[in-house]
Amino acid sequence: MPESSATYGNANNVNVIGTEIALQQRKNVWNVRSSEFAKSTFNPIRSIVDSMKLEPHPEKYMIALSIGDPTIFGNLKPHEAIIEAIQNATTSMRFNGYAPTVGYAEARAAVAEYYTTPSSPVSPNDVILCSGCSHALDLCISSVASRGQNILMPRPGFSIYRTLANGYGINTKHYNLLPEKSWEVDLDHLESLIDKNTAAIVVNNPSNPCGSVYSEQHLRDILAIAERNCVPIIADEIYDFFVFKGEVFHPLATLSTNVPILSCSGLTKRFLVPGWRMGWILIHDRNNVFASEIRGALQSLSQRIIGSNTLVQGALPEILRNTPQSFFDDTIAQVQANAELAYEKLRACPGLNPVAPKGAMYLMVGIDMSRYPEFATEFQFVERLVSEQSVFCLPGKCFEYHDYFRIVLTVPKEQMLIALDRIIEFCHMHYIPDKVETLGLTEMVESEEDERMEMETSTTLANYRPTSQATKS
Ligand SMILES: *Cc1c(COP(=O)(O)O)cnc(C)c1O
Repeated sequence: MPESSATYGNANNVNVIGTEIALQQRKNVWNVRSSEFAKSTFNPIRSIVDSMKLEPHPEKYMIALSIGDPTIFGNLKPHEAIIEAIQNATTSMRFNGYAPTVGYAEARAAVAEYYTTPSSPVSPNDVILCSGCSHALDLCISSVASRGQNILMPRPGFSIYRTLANGYGINTKHYNLLPEKSWEVDLDHLESLIDKNTAAIVVNNPSNPCGSVYSEQHLRDILAIAERNCVPIIADEIYDFFVFKGEVFHPLATLSTNVPILSCSGLTKRFLVPGWRMGWILIHDRNNVFASEIRGALQSLSQRIIGSNTLVQGALPEILRNTPQSFFDDTIAQVQANAELAYEKLRACPGLNPVAPKGAMYLMVGIDMSRYPEFATEFQFVERLVSEQSVFCLPGKCFEYHDYFRIVLTVPKEQMLIALDRIIEFCHMHYIPDKVETLGLTEMVESEEDERMEMETSTTLANYRPTSQATKS
């Protein structure tokens, strides 16, 4: 045994936390088990996608409208100012050492300056640099909530909140978003979920997967609920300012006078560098609610990984100052063009109900499942879309929702067009019109096969059914 271990041990020469385990009789066989923490940490998207039968049609190349990485298709690239900034940071040799765990003062000052508004000033001390926005969310969730407490998150919503919380034994409760109201929060439902163990409300605006952008009034309504119940908010604003022409993004904290908010964002989506892993937390304290414990908690937790990547921190001031507005405008214009195209085409498609997005990079499409009786769930619908048309969209299930699928809007326009045409063809192949839509059909049809025959002759569908293709595979 190395001599030094004696210095660190207690009387039994074991770390206090490990005492119980260490004192148990050791059996000398290999039995290396994963931790409880690891066992309770999982990303539902991964397991859902892994459980899907995804065999693309052999004659059609695959178009993945599923991947939330805007760089994957090569059409969207970071601006040269961003690349120059990282080159300068690298060659300066100034950013090779450890930074403070919350980030270099200069980089935090740049973020503070970027976000400061008259109604919600941000000081460098209010900024914590993180390894991507998900790490920012991790620190926020784990600093405000303990095992057995709960946080509220949107449904449909991004699964990372649940992955992070449940790993720590923190429960998640889902408040509903309303598709008929452009995915606004069901405010009554949200408030009804708050209990004595609620530690925070997660608000994601603009939204993944919905593409919704909330009005100032709606955000004020959410803030009023938080204020009445004294629950802080974790604002996932990774798509901040990423809104379509004519829409306005309101940072939640600019509207809050009494609700303390932890806002999370980063370079990932808007600056088109997800792999650089640079995110941040803005601590928007109100009435010193966060001063006594939460600031310290965030600081402590930032020590777990000893801070984020220093080269990107070094580049951050230049990135934030030198990236021209035209770069963001160009990216948004491409995404918006795809959004409009997809919305118009899918809206005209029988049995589909897309909800027009106002920002971010996604579109949610409702499926009128009663018109697609072949499929028990949207999950099966999406699977078959892959096997027949080689187009892959994430099923609503990935966002704890049903009867919807999400399409990603960052693909090149040509691929978007092809994918949309394939989705439309697929829908026409499988859509069963309402009885009243099929003229002359008065009796209930006996079997599915009979129903298909009826459809073959119905005027609504005849034009769309490729004669060569078998209906059943
Ligand atoms: C992509 C995304 C994140 C995670 O961003 P990273 O910086 O890559 O960790 C967080 N929240 C939402 C809603 C996202 O879509």
